[in-house]
This record gives sequence, structure tokens and C-alpha cells, in this order.
Amino acid sequence: MSQSKLYQRRTKIVCTLGPASQNAATIDKLIRAGMDIARINLSHGTQDQHTKNINTVRKVAKRLKRNVAILMDLPGPKFRLGILEGGKVTLKKGSIVRLSQTQPLGNQELLPVKLPYPITDLKTGTKILLADGALELKASKKDGDDVLCQIIRGGSIRSGAGFVAFGMSATGAFIDDNIKNNINFSLKQQPDFLALSYISIAAEITSVRALLGVDHADIPLIIKIERAQAIKNLDSILKQSDGIMVARGDLGVEIPLEMVPLAQKDMISKCNLLGIPVITATEMLESMIHASRPTRAETTDVANAIFDGTDATMLSAETAIGSHPVQAVKMMAKIAVQTEKKLPYQKMLTERGSWPKKETSELISYNACYTAHTLNAKAIVAYTQSGSTAGRVSKYRPKMPILALTPSESALRRLMIYWGVQTIKTDGMSGVDQLFSLGQKTTKELGLAKKGDRIVITGGIPIGEVGSTNLLKVEKID
Ligand code: PEP
Repeated sequence: MSQSKLYQRRTKIVCTLGPASQNAATIDKLIRAGMDIARINLSHGTQDQHTKNINTVRKVAKRLKRNVAILMDLPGPKFRLGILEGGKVTLKKGSIVRLSQTQPLGNQELLPVKLPYPITDLKTGTKILLADGALELKASKKDGDDVLCQIIRGGSIRSGAGFVAFGMSATGAFIDDNIKNNINFSLKQQPDFLALSYISIAAEITSVRALLGVDHADIPLIIKIERAQAIKNLDSILKQSDGIMVARGDLGVEIPLEMVPLAQKDMISKCNLLGIPVITATEMLESMIHASRPTRAETTDVANAIFDGTDATMLSAETAIGSHPVQAVKMMAKIAVQTEKKLPYQKMLTERGSWPKKETSELISYNACYTAHTLNAKAIVAYTQSGSTAGRVSKYRPKMPILALTPSESALRRLMIYWGVQTIKTDGMSGVDQLFSLGQKTTKELGLAKKGDRIVITGGIPIGEVGSTNLLKVEKID
């Protein structure tokens, strides 16, 4: 993808890597098609494979001169099936299937399950959902150490699919050996984001931060909202979150499906107000796992998430195990570009005019957008040490690209989650004059602005001091 094309799209794209996408050639194509963040899903695959994938993403991104962030998604206390013969089996409605905690390999008649309680604790009649609710079983009777279930809703199911038994407690202590191992492994990879699954209360996030310790205290934590309890505790969870993932898959098992769109809208609007980046995830282009084109409903879903105000949209199985991973990213990018042309920028700016707190940094960021909009500026250039200046500008959704210039390697990639922000590495800045001329030079080189155009520059004086956004300058391109 050419650099100028990159600046045409504002919504960010997160791609989950997996067997369909874990070779260098496909990763190259995913990045060219628009992958901004590679999601490493630790619920599947091996640590060796994840390490290889992360190294490949970094190597290819460097060659393509693109900033691609790594998001490591830590499994929470979600219960799953074990290994199935051939990786996948089909369960037929009306048949009986055995749930076992002792058999290691499953098939059409037997599903191995990994649970923290004896399977025989399930009462007769308990409803069980598999694979985010795609399949449904009903516990019908105990048989020794196993439980026999009737298949109420059949379908095909893969190794490691999620298992939810209604009425059985889903959590013990949030920090267990499994999460500790995954965190230790993840930290060695120096990820740009850690995603936490199955959070119910804010204290669980605090306990992860304590585990990360001072050495890793600044790693942004993306909290996956997928439990009914997390929806109830959303306000306190948001206070502890660096980002949110609307994890619609598991959420649609925990709350009624018809409530998922409302929960999505509520989460996105709260995140927008607080300036917390938000990813909308799961089944966005689901049919593209098999088909080379999505359904109308799916393209509309992606567009609606963008209208709701999402910063990023995510592909899961589409890129991890689908037959058309690259086409799925291309399609998502095309939907984003078309939708963004019709976003009501003037209305959004007016509405968001009441959002800045009485703080210099907030007011300058809002006014950078207001000024750029009013003067029809071609870009907003944000010089940022920690990334916060550019993140704050994104909150006000300007219609022109936000170009973050930063000397910080981590800000370079962490900003990739924010709507509208593209990043460029700079050396440290000696003063504002250097910043103004660099803003002119870079926007011209990228083809964002030409002679006579205006750009808006924001940052902080003294240059390079973290958290000091206090500068707003309009530059006319020479
Ligand atoms: C989800 O449930 O929507 C989700 C993104 O989480 P996972 O893929 O880990 O199930």
C-alpha cells in the first residue's frame, strides 16, 4: 500500500494471526492490505509459533516501513474443549454426546473438556453452549465420571472451542498459574498491548498491574468486555483501562444476543467520551471464513461500528483460519474508507465541543481539531513524546489525518490503535521552529499538503516534556 493510501483510512484494523496467516508472504499481504495491529491469540497455538509470528510481523513491517503493533491476547478463565480428531467434528442435532475429563482426544461421540470442577457436578437439564453459542447441548445423565448430553443445536466444532455450562461458576481467582505463565511469556516478546479476557471487576485489572510490576507498568492493557458482570461494572473497569475490546463472541453467550448491539453502542460512546480507544470484535466478516465476499449484513455491521465511533475493527477467525484472510482485510479497509467519507464530522466536532475538561492539554487538542476543520487544513501534526497528545486529538475525530511525530519507539506502535492517527519516527526536537519546518516537510513529502495549504501543528513547549500539550500553530505550506 502506498503511503498516501495509508492516510485515506482512519479506522484501524486488527488481524488475528493463525494457521491461515502465519507465513511471511501472507503477513506481507495483510500489512499491505491494511493490518495495523497483529493480534496474537494465546488461547490457541504454541508459544514457539507465537514467537515466530511476532518476529515475522516485525521483520516484514520493518521491510515495508510500516508501524504494526503487536497485541497479545491473554486467555482468561474461559473453559474449553480439548483436542478433537482432525481438529474438527460435526455434532448432529438429536444425537447423544459424551463429555469427559479423562479422555484426551475427542470425536463425534465424545468431547474432552477442561474444567476446574468435576463434570459430574452438572445437573440433569443444564444448558451448555459451545463455540460462543453456535452449538447447544443439554446434560441428560451421568455415566460414571462422564456426563451424557443431548445435542439440541448441532453443527461443526473445532478443538479448543469455548464451553459454557449455565449455572456453573466461571471464575476462581483471576490470577492463576496459567495467566502468570502467559504474562511471563508475553512480556519476553515486548508486546505493544496486552489484552485481558474475562475481566469481571476493576480489581482484577489492578491485580494484573501489580503482577506486571514497575518494569512493565506502562504496557497498555486492553480490557475485553465479554462478561455480563463487566457490563454492570463498566464505569469502574473503564477507569482502569487503557483500551477496550467489545468482545461480542463471548458477550453474546453471557447476555441475550439482542442486547449485544446496545451494549456495543454504550461501550463505544463511553470510551469516546473518556478518550479510551475501543476495538469492535468478532464475526465482523464471519462469512469470509469460507466465502470470498462478505454478506450485506456484515459490511453494514462494520460500517455501523464506525458510525458508532469505534477506533478499530477486528478480524478473528477470518484471518486466523479463514480461506480468504487478505481479501477480508482489503474488504474491511474498503468499507472503512467509504464509511468515513460520510461521517458527520461537523456534528461530531460540535457535540464533542462540550467534552474537554478545563485543562490546557484537552482544550488545545480540541481546538487543534476545531481550527483545522474551520480552516480546511489538510493535516494535524502532533509532536508527541508519550503518544498522549496524538491520542487526545483523535478523541475529537477530525476529518483530516493526524500525523504523530514521535521519537519514542513504543508510542510509534501504540498509537496505531487510535482512530485517524498515523505515526512517523523523528529524532528529538531542538525547538518549535524545527517542529514547524518538520511538519511542513513531512506533510508535503507524504502528499498530504501542497504549497498554499494549511496544516495545524500541536505539541508541548518545552518540546519533549511529557504531558505538556500547550501549543497550537497554523502553518501555511511554503
Ligand atoms: C470474543 O469473545 O469476542 C473475543 C474476541 O474473545 P476470544 O476470541 O478470545 O474468544
